[in-house]
Amino acid sequence: MNESHQVLFRKYRPQFFRDVIYQDLAVGSLQNAFKSKKIGHAYIFIGPRGVGKTTIARILAKRLNCERPDGVEPCNECNSCVEITKGNSNDVMEIDAASNSGVDNVRELRENVKFNAMGGKYRVYILDEVHMLSGAAFNALLKTLEEPPQHVVFILATTEYHKIPETILSRCQDFTFRKVPASVLQQYIETIAKKEELKFDSEGLFWIAKKGDGSVRDTLSFMEQAVVFTDGNLTGAKLRKMIGYHGIDTFIEFLNTIIDTTKSAKLFESLEHYFQEGVDLIKFIWDFVEFLNSLLLIQDNLSERESINIPQEDIQKLKTEYRSLDKELLILLSENIFLIHEKLNQMKLRSSYEVKVYLEIQFRKVILEREKPSVSGLLSKISELTKLIQSDINNIQDQSVQLPNEKQKSETVTEKKISPELKSNVLNVPLENEKFLKEKFSGIEVDPGQFKNL
Ligand SMILES: [Zn+2]
Repeated sequence: MNESHQVLFRKYRPQFFRDVIYQDLAVGSLQNAFKSKKIGHAYIFIGPRGVGKTTIARILAKRLNCERPDGVEPCNECNSCVEITKGNSNDVMEIDAASNSGVDNVRELRENVKFNAMGGKYRVYILDEVHMLSGAAFNALLKTLEEPPQHVVFILATTEYHKIPETILSRCQDFTFRKVPASVLQQYIETIAKKEELKFDSEGLFWIAKKGDGSVRDTLSFMEQAVVFTDGNLTGAKLRKMIGYHGIDTFIEFLNTIIDTTKSAKLFESLEHYFQEGVDLIKFIWDFVEFLNSLLLIQDNLSERESINIPQEDIQKLKTEYRSLDKELLILLSENIFLIHEKLNQMKLRSSYEVKVYLEIQFRKVILEREKPSVSGLLSKISELTKLIQSDINNIQDQSVQLPNEKQKSETVTEKKISPELKSNVLNVPLENEKFLKEKFSGIEVDPGQFKNL
C-alpha cells in the first residue's frame, strides 16, 4: 500500500478504548479486566484483517503501563503512553510473526522476557499474524506461556484461528473481533469526511464503505485513494466511475431489454456500446446478477441485509417501482445469467471481443427461452382449467338435483356445458399446448404451489 494512502488510517487510529468502533464485546471484556484488576498474561485476538486487533493491543499496552490511567482508559499524555503511540517504547515489542516465524526468533524472545520492564510496569509482546509461527516456534512459545514472568503480557493476534495449536489456545484468553458492517463503516467515514471538510453524498460513502469489506483499515485506505481520484468530491457518480459500477438505472434498462423481447435489438446495442467503451463485460454481468439478486431480496423484504450491494436511496426506488416484477422470471433470469458468468470465468477467453461474442450468443438463448411459454405458466393455466371444469360439474350436479324431469336436466347440461369463462381460457391456450396438456395431464389435479421449485 502506498504510504500516502495510510494517512487517514494513521490520523484516525483510535487511542482510547472508547474510540474503537463495533468491537464492543472484546473492548468490554478488556475494560472489565481492568475494573476487576484481573490482568491476564496471555491474550489472543482473533478476527479478520483491519478490524482493530493491533490498535486495541496498543491501547491495552498503554493502559497497562500508563502512569496516570483514567479508569479503564490510558491517559495518552504520560511518557509511557506517548512513547507507545510513537512506537518508541522499550517495553512494548511488536513482532510480525510472519517474518519472524522460526524457532530461533522465539528463543530470542524467551531470553528477552526475562528482563524487567524499563519504564513501565509491564513488558508487552504483541505477536501479529501469530499463526505463521513454525511448529517448533509454537513449542518454544508454549514453554514461556506455561510459566510467564509476572511482568510480561503476551498479546497474540491472528486472522486464522484454526492454525493455532490447541495447547497455545488453552493458555490464552481469547477475544473475537468481528467484521464491521458496511452501514457502521459508512457512518464512521461520514464523521471523518466532515472533519476533513470533504464534499460527499451518502451514495459516495456507501461505495467506499462497501469496498472496505468489513475492514476499517481497508475502508480508510480506499477513502484516501477516492479523495485523490475525485479531487475531494466523494459523490456516488464519481465513486461509481472509480469502481466501474454502472448504477441501477443502467441495470433496470438492461433488464427491460431482456424482459420485453420486442426490445432485444437494444440489448445487443448496449452490449456493443459497452464493448466499444472498454467496459469490463465480465464484471458488468456479475454486477447485473447481483442487481437481480438484490431485487429478489427486496421482494422478500430482506433489503436491510448488510450484503445487499445497493445504496439505500436506490433500494427505496426499487421498492416502490419494481417490487411487483414477476418473481419467478427474476429467479430464472438470475440463475441463467449467473451460469453465463460462471462459464465466462471458466473459459478464460482471450479478448474482450470474444467475451462480447459469447455474451451475444448466450443472450440470444435467454431471449429464445423468454419467448417460450413457461412451465409454471402452463401449470397455473391447467390448474385454472381444472377448477373451472370442477365448478361446472358441481353446477350441473346441483341443478340436476333440483330438476325433476330428465328432459329439463339434459337441456341444462347442453346449455351450461362450457361457461364463457372456460371458453375464453381454452381459446387462450395455443393449439399445440392444449394437445400437449391433454396428453400429459388429463385427469390430474394440479396445485401450482407444488411446482414452486421448477
Ligand atoms: Zn498514560
